[in-house]
Amino acid sequence: MTIGSRHARNAVFTVTAVPPSVVPPPRLRADACPGVLAPHDAADGALARIRLPGGVLTAAAARAVADCASQHGDGAAHLTSRGNLQLRGLRRADPHALSVLVGAGLVPSPTHERVRNVLASPLSGIAGGFADVRGVAARLDAAICATPALAALSGRFLFAVDDGRGDVAAEAPDLCWRARTSTTGVLLVAGTPVGAVALADAVDVLVKAAESFLSLGSAEWRAAEVPDAAGRVAAALALPDANERHSDATELRDGGVRSPGVGPEVGEVLRDDGARALVVAPVLGELSADDLRLLARLSPQVLVTPWRTIVLPSPEGIDPVAAAGFAVATDSPATLVSACAGSPGCAKSRADVRTDARTLIASASVTDRTHLVGCERRCGAPHGTHVALVAQADGSYTHSVTGRTA
Ligand code: SF4
Repeated sequence: MTIGSRHARNAVFTVTAVPPSVVPPPRLRADACPGVLAPHDAADGALARIRLPGGVLTAAAARAVADCASQHGDGAAHLTSRGNLQLRGLRRADPHALSVLVGAGLVPSPTHERVRNVLASPLSGIAGGFADVRGVAARLDAAICATPALAALSGRFLFAVDDGRGDVAAEAPDLCWRARTSTTGVLLVAGTPVGAVALADAVDVLVKAAESFLSLGSAEWRAAEVPDAAGRVAAALALPDANERHSDATELRDGGVRSPGVGPEVGEVLRDDGARALVVAPVLGELSADDLRLLARLSPQVLVTPWRTIVLPSPEGIDPVAAAGFAVATDSPATLVSACAGSPGCAKSRADVRTDARTLIASASVTDRTHLVGCERRCGAPHGTHVALVAQADGSYTHSVTGRTA
């Protein structure tokens, strides 16, 4: 099936058609990834995860999340390591608790809400990078929701659209389009390049690649777990050679694939147009309802990153967010410390790790990326090397240096 031209000088390429009704692979266990319509029962109430494709949070959506958090939840929205938001402490039986989120357009597809996992380089079109991928995540989200077969993806399956700087490509996505120039790029399956794809075709090819992944019939949820997923998807898509040199190629301005867990630094960012953007970090990735309403007042749209930071593309200044308690500079200890839910939110936790994390931040003694957890499951651990502090029954913490790669 022809899906479009790459650019004027290159030939049209074809993608092998995928059967319209892909048979969902048998799952060995239930997909427990929470959503808005399928919240998870936690010790402190229901937990709802709100997908934000590309991390885009509009002012209207921020206000809706704030209302839901303050009226029905624990009063805050919690950033996740996939650039999503979570609400905790919700009363499951309350029919009004989540209707405000649906009304704000945060659940555009009941059948696909948990598979709308799309990262995008948050500074794309603002500062650096190769291509301007703003809007691609939204178009990919719409295409995913319009493809019935993709409802069978796992809630853990991750798409990424990388503008060439390698930031979200390093977050272990299952499928990633990564720019090489302003108009050309490459498709990666579980990190392996499988073919050249123009920016104009990225959405179509990512959808076809996801369908192709499902057609492999594997019971595994992630592409990295399936033997030779990259080779098998590549064979189905028959894309041009990923190593093909492009006559319009230029050098990446921001290097190759970054270390996982490394996003834009907190602080002011000089935009390509000479203005200033701002990257801020809420303490422990927690946005109070007042924080959300402040962000909604300051910007028509903010970007939630998978590094638990927020990008304000065109802030009026740094003072309002600094006064609200956000970390606004890289030397803030708050930028180094994260924590799982801990007690009382998680019944497995041996400690109130979030209170301990706040104490650690206040001590200003932390010098390395540090993640506190209430048990060995290590939920929410950042990608990349970090210090893991694991709570013990006696109130102490074990200490180890670790790195999660997937
Ligand atoms: S790491 Fe353990 S204590 Fe923390 S949220 Fe996960 S299961 Fe609960």
